[in-house]
Amino acid sequence: MRRLGRLGFRGRLITAMVALVVVVVLVIGALMAAYLFDDEKKRAVEQLDIGARVTQEVLQRRADLERSRLQVVVQDFGFLSAIASGDRATLISALDNHSERAGADLAVLLDTEGQVIASTVRLGRFPLPDGLLDRAGNGRELVAFRGTGYELLVVPVQAPGLRAWLVAGFRLDDALARIIAELSGTRVEFQTAMDDKASTFATFAASHLGGTREDVSDQRFFVRRIALGDSDPASDLHATLMVDRQASLQRYYQRAREIGLLVLAILVFAILVAMIIARTLSRPVRQLAEYARAIGRVHTGDADATPPRLRVGGELLQLRNTLRDTFTRLRDREAHIRHAATHDDVTGLANRIALLDALEERLVANQPCSLIGLRLNDLSRINDSLGLAFGDQVLTAVANRLREHWPTALVVARTGGREFLLLLERLSDAAQVDAARRLHRQLQTPLEIDHTSFTVRTSVVTLQLPDDAGTLNEFRRRVNLTFERAARSDDPVLRYRPGLDENHLRRLQIIGDLQGAIRQGQLAMHYQPKLDVSLGRLVQVEALVRWQHPSLGPVSPDEFISLAEQSGQIHDLTGHILQRVADDARGWIAQGLDIGIAINLSAKDLTWPALPGLVARTFADWPQPMSRITLEVTESALMDDPVRALETLAQLSALGVHLSVDDFGTGYSSLAQLRQLPVQELKIDKSFVLRLRSEPDDQLIVRFIIDMAHGLGLAVAAEGIEDLDSWHLLRGWGCNLAQGFALGRPMPAADLPGAAQTLHQQRANLTHNATENSG
Ligand code: C2E
Ligand code: CA
Ligand code: CA
Repeated sequence: MRRLGRLGFRGRLITAMVALVVVVVLVIGALMAAYLFDDEKKRAVEQLDIGARVTQEVLQRRADLERSRLQVVVQDFGFLSAIASGDRATLISALDNHSERAGADLAVLLDTEGQVIASTVRLGRFPLPDGLLDRAGNGRELVAFRGTGYELLVVPVQAPGLRAWLVAGFRLDDALARIIAELSGTRVEFQTAMDDKASTFATFAASHLGGTREDVSDQRFFVRRIALGDSDPASDLHATLMVDRQASLQRYYQRAREIGLLVLAILVFAILVAMIIARTLSRPVRQLAEYARAIGRVHTGDADATPPRLRVGGELLQLRNTLRDTFTRLRDREAHIRHAATHDDVTGLANRIALLDALEERLVANQPCSLIGLRLNDLSRINDSLGLAFGDQVLTAVANRLREHWPTALVVARTGGREFLLLLERLSDAAQVDAARRLHRQLQTPLEIDHTSFTVRTSVVTLQLPDDAGTLNEFRRRVNLTFERAARSDDPVLRYRPGLDENHLRRLQIIGDLQGAIRQGQLAMHYQPKLDVSLGRLVQVEALVRWQHPSLGPVSPDEFISLAEQSGQIHDLTGHILQRVADDARGWIAQGLDIGIAINLSAKDLTWPALPGLVARTFADWPQPMSRITLEVTESALMDDPVRALETLAQLSALGVHLSVDDFGTGYSSLAQLRQLPVQELKIDKSFVLRLRSEPDDQLIVRFIIDMAHGLGLAVAAEGIEDLDSWHLLRGWGCNLAQGFALGRPMPAADLPGAAQTLHQQRANLTHNATENSG
């Protein structure tokens, strides 16, 4: 059933037709066989009817013949005189002779009363049927005697006047049976119930037939049994008629074979016809199926589908036409979609997808190529001020110019709102730069839009592939990066610089990981000593944050703090650091170390309104005076947004904390401006201090700053002291606080007690010969 389900139309058609033919042929065959059998049976019955009639006829004729012979015997003079003699011996001898002449097998002479006078057989063993003489007129009687059938005839003996009765018996023997068989063509057997030499078929008939006129048949014979005995049913005398089936069966088989052959021939012929018909019937269907498959393939690419020429009409033709129309529509739509998917609808140039596809192909095939990118710097401004329609016209004009000047480019694509990319066969680096400059110049020439000349400013970037980018992702990122740099650069033509992207990725990773680092405690706080210069005593430490990144290693705070500022995570970070420092400091103060703290604030913190509140909460109930807390704010941070910075500083100052201007000397603030700020300290940038010992210019600057600051009532701190000479110089100039590797490196809070101890011991060194070096 499942296999049938998988058959095609043709297969099903053939199967159905052949099945139909088989059924019809089988039915006809079966009917013919049944008819033949019936016919044979009817013939056999007719044959048996004839046999039965002939049997009766022959018995009747024989009886007539015998009776006339007996008639001769009873009129015979010799026979009559023997009776008249009354001598028994003479009588028996005459009876013997005369009955033999008449062909009788037995003879009995009865007197008028029915008493036996003489007999050729011993009558004790041959009882005559009762009432035999009463029925004498009827002529004959069939009886069985000791297993053999006899016909008894009774004839009166007149001499004149009735003298006696002669009873003669004739055996129903095989000779008689043969005669009947010859006459009727039916085999006959006579037998009685006690017949011990009965044939198999007679026995068979006896056991199957109750003496009626029924027919039975077995493998070899049709059989009928007719009862003969009329006087004594107990004697059970029968004639069994048999028609041999062999001959008619032979005929039957012959017919059956012929029919079988005929059926086979018809079947073969029918199958052939069915196949031919199925072929022709299914051809258009197959053609349509093939056509539909071809249509299916067209969608995948190159193949084309031509509609089949059908020699039929009707539904199939209609189906073909529908398929053809659908296909045409499908192909048009497909082409349209394909075009839309790979083209920019404003300029008609290839789009980003098409360019990336082409690029990917080249990368996969390992074919080097050159890329020139173009960005219209002020398209959004044009859109805003002159309208989107005008913007589109600018784009179209640029596209036309690209088409006009770069006919040999592999792909010219608009890859973004204001971005175009040209994919070129690989050029040398120099040739590529030339090409880029040429492109830039081509777009410097004013565009003609709505009959007015219009100039666009553009940035042009170049990349060599695969050198500058090995994958599409790298390419996309690096083109963008280069464009961004080009926008900021003085030269409008920029080549991608290796490493640019790696920095970019590193920055992205740092930004991405920072939040987790804060939560997972990857950040550590280190503390660097700040010494009172005149006393040589540790009075304060500056908190410096450290980050040991799991894969990047140590990341400098300069790097990740500016990234935290850019990514908006700086407030979280500052809050975290404030808390960590407060916790650490409470610890060492509790241990008896009297050390104040300096904490760096980022520029962005100064414009964060929540900062003063946060500081107040973090340092609530501070065990030292609030003035022992210094917040370091860079000079440039103060200058970004002076008004808001001033506000924040005022609030912080109100809390009692000290404020220090960090990195002083690197910004452009004037001392006059500083005067208006609520700060207590200037921290001279280390760039002036690091080479203080050897740089007279730096010495001049530092001395000047110290004097001026003191003049304004500000304390001065110096950082970056890497040698004691610098320390002594600063000491001589009255610098208040000093910090540097020569005095102590940043260290974990746990190391502070030890460091404080060491510094205490070195105090003499720091304070002894100050005057000697200050000259
Ligand atoms: P900064 O505030 O100027 O910090 C002083 C920097 O100079 C520290 O670098 C310190 O290790 C280094 N330094 C100290 N003495 C010497 C010396 O004798 N020679 C030399 N060559 N360098 C010396 P660090 O720790 O790398 O910090 C760099 C910058 O990161 C800091 O500059 C500060 O602007 C920022 N920063 C560090 N920690 C924090 C923080 O907790 N919060 C904020 N907002 N910024 C921080
Ligand atoms: Ca600082
Ligand atoms: Ca500094």
